[in-house]
Amino acid sequence: MGLSRSCRYCQQAFQPSIYRPEQRVCSQPQCQRRRRSDYHRERIRDDPAYAADVRLSQRKWRQAHAEYWKQYREQHPESGGRNREQQRRRDRKRRLVDLAKNNLAFDLKHEASEVWLFGPGAADLAKNNLALAKVFIYQPVGSGQGQAPAS
Ligand SMILES: [Zn+2]
Repeated sequence: MGLSRSCRYCQQAFQPSIYRPEQRVCSQPQCQRRRRSDYHRERIRDDPAYAADVRLSQRKWRQAHAEYWKQYREQHPESGGRNREQQRRRDRKRRLVDLAKNNLAFDLKHEASEVWLFGPGAADLAKNNLALAKVFIYQPVGSGQGQAPAS
């Protein structure tokens, strides 16, 4: 079979797919996520129409989101107050962790309904209304785990 090569991200050796001989990234989920987010970032940079689509879907999502919470507050007037807000923040954080563990969140099909959230503020935007839209949590560049070893 073909020669193995090392993954662009984790540097581990892998066998390229016979269907994708140009493959540079291994099949581990974290490497595939990095490949997709890099692709997305490069395409935003290089493709003005794509970048405009992304901005439009972000704006639509923010509007739908604001409307959702306005209705929620109207229908749940008892939900105000500091303690409940703090509890909601904790719930939200836990849901985002669950979401991040769920590969569905990273299933990046290029559909009009798709939403991209950028940076650390994404957690606050996402809240708990995942039913409104697909959500992709976009890691800030250079953050956290998964960096290539320095050697
Ligand atoms: Zn890899």
